Amino acid sequence: MLEDLLNVQSATGELSSRRARPPQDLSDYRALYDNLQVGLYRSTIAGKQISANPALVQMNGFSSEAEMLAAVNDIAGEWYVEPGRRFEFMEELARNGVVTNFVSEIYRYKSRQRIWITETARIVYDEASGEPLFYEGTVQEITETQQRLATGELFRKFSQEVPGCLYQYRMRPDGSTCFPFATGGLKDLFGFDPENAMTDDRAMWSMIHPDDLENVWTSLRKSAADLVDWSHEFRIIAKDGSIKWIHENASPEREPDGSILWHGFMNEITERKQSEVRIHRMAYYDLLTGLPNRKLLLDRLDQALAEMRGKARDTALLFVDLDGFKEVNDAYGHEVGDDLLRAAAARFESLTDGSGLVARLGGDEFAIMLQGLDAARAAVSLAQDINGFFAEPMIFGGRVAAVGASIGIAKASDSVDGASELLRCADLAMYSAKLSGRNRFCIYDKSLDREREEKRRIASDLRTILLEEALRVVYQPIIDARTGEICGAEALLRWPENRGEIVPPDVFVPIAEQCGLIDSLGSFVLKEACRQAAAWPGIAISVNVSPLQLMNPAFPSQVAAIVDGSGLERGRLELEITESFIVDNARRAAVVIAELRLQNITISLDDFGSGFSSIGHIRRFKFDRIKIDRSMVSGIADRPSALKLLQATIAMAHALDLEVTVEGVEKEEEVPLLRLAGCHQMQGFLFSRPVSASVLKSLLNKAGTVNPQRVLSA
Ligand code: C2E
Ligand code: CA
Ligand code: CA
Repeated sequence: MLEDLLNVQSATGELSSRRARPPQDLSDYRALYDNLQVGLYRSTIAGKQISANPALVQMNGFSSEAEMLAAVNDIAGEWYVEPGRRFEFMEELARNGVVTNFVSEIYRYKSRQRIWITETARIVYDEASGEPLFYEGTVQEITETQQRLATGELFRKFSQEVPGCLYQYRMRPDGSTCFPFATGGLKDLFGFDPENAMTDDRAMWSMIHPDDLENVWTSLRKSAADLVDWSHEFRIIAKDGSIKWIHENASPEREPDGSILWHGFMNEITERKQSEVRIHRMAYYDLLTGLPNRKLLLDRLDQALAEMRGKARDTALLFVDLDGFKEVNDAYGHEVGDDLLRAAAARFESLTDGSGLVARLGGDEFAIMLQGLDAARAAVSLAQDINGFFAEPMIFGGRVAAVGASIGIAKASDSVDGASELLRCADLAMYSAKLSGRNRFCIYDKSLDREREEKRRIASDLRTILLEEALRVVYQPIIDARTGEICGAEALLRWPENRGEIVPPDVFVPIAEQCGLIDSLGSFVLKEACRQAAAWPGIAISVNVSPLQLMNPAFPSQVAAIVDGSGLERGRLELEITESFIVDNARRAAVVIAELRLQNITISLDDFGSGFSSIGHIRRFKFDRIKIDRSMVSGIADRPSALKLLQATIAMAHALDLEVTVEGVEKEEEVPLLRLAGCHQMQGFLFSRPVSASVLKSLLNKAGTVNPQRVLSA
């Protein structure tokens, strides 16, 4: 039996390494049996354990053979994780008489821990009857090997399935490179077999985008030199010409021969890159014109300012705001407005000719950044070019429109702190250019800041004054040219006297417009004037209204409510509207004027002859009266040409059925000329300066005239 046992044993080939004296007889093999590292057993055909050597006892977690024999009764049901495995084993035994290296997963009997074994066995037959007596065999635990195999299989599967390529990359001391190992992903990414890259990877290097090649190489060398992880994103040009983005991530290790071996992973990130580019475009570029937006401009400006430090380099910024854009937009619609913006953007770019950064800040505002030795001078000449271009009617999207560009220029200097500050200065200068007329440029200097500071102070004072209702209203009499009697008065605002400085209305009214106070200012003067005038005998009261008030659709009904509330007859109220409103908002103006006239309120066109007066406007809009600006009156007594112009203007008004008031009459000798020319009403310091309500009232009570004899007899 021991011979049999040894037969089986020889199949496993594993013996205890303990030295023993050579066997004298077979009984000596007992020691071998006990010390063998391989499990030996006998079991009945039915699956009951008969004997087990110490190695098997230990493998099954028992402390003695007796304990084990008592416990094991059903090898098939209790030992194999997969009981069916026992029947395969028995079938094979029955078929061949032996089973070799039969691998199964079993339970370590006592602890029920799962382990892997390999088993070799045979059936022992009764010599006489030929009946099978029992099984005997060897069992060896191979859990560790099995796990290693499983891990290997896992890795193989993983490296096949993972979207990307796992690799080792070697750089030899002579600078040559190769992939000692790479998974199949390499072929997907680069289009060549990993095997080919094992010795030579020049094919890969030749595919890297020329713009990225140097960076890839530099960063790889750095990783090699400092033994720091290498992480890089770069483009390759695939065989079909398409661009792929690759991301690599690898850890280097120095090998004994001085080579550097990276263990890494690479994958394709083209999609991510494309969406990054899209997101970047959306965050940093203006969709309409494709120009950089405010954010990008500010970034670049910051960068430029930082680079400038200590170098003979200037940075200058042009802030460009289109004049008349809103009109084009309102008149032709947004699509045409968009065309205009695109055309303007293209024009800025072509005038800048690649030497600066053109950005769209939003709406009709653009900025151009210039850098260089003499950026400030270049900015001025660019501004002149832009103004020159916009001086001509602009052609865009099949249309022609008169558009201008108001430009502010700011130059970076030590006193300008940061990009936003530079932008603010340029903006301020632009604003000042805009105030001086269309299509002009202005260079920032500190006085603009002072002006702005002053404006801010006036605005805040004005806010309190309005809250306290402390503004005063004075009244300048208007004289009937025929009778010399006071036939009306113009309400004019005055800054309260107790406030230290006196701010004139043509300063604080525009400020009120800019800082959103114009509506309360407007309704204050209207209420006050109507209230006072209601107490006067029959004369008209003229109130100036700001163009901005007229933009409010509720304006006509607000006026009606105020007049009616004051007790003044509507027919006695006259509103003075300036031409600038008419020019800027033709359609809106027509509607507002019509509504107000329907309410029986008189409308006069103020300051006629001061700006760009147009007969077209007067004809188109139904005014009751024009007020001729004092600039047309001064000098009529001395210069015949001035008189002729005034006469012609008055004649034109007559032809259009308009009443005529002449403002700013200062000299007696002007009066007869004006009367002769057919002027209906006169107003000016000659008759009276603006006076308080009570003075006006006493003037009216006296005779209803202001020095009539002296003035009108002349
Ligand atoms: P305006 O509507 O043209 O008002 C006439 C201005 O000419 C007044 O100046 C008046 O004092 C001045 N003036 C009158 N007669 C003569 C004269 O013989 N010679 C000279 N040199 N000037 C004369 P004021 O009061 O300083 O007002 C200036 C401007 O302020 C007004 O021009 C008007 O545009 C604005 N303003 C005044 N009050 C108001 C108001 O209540 N609302 C609005 N929206 N604007 C107002
Ligand atoms: Ca006026
Ligand atoms: Ca006026």
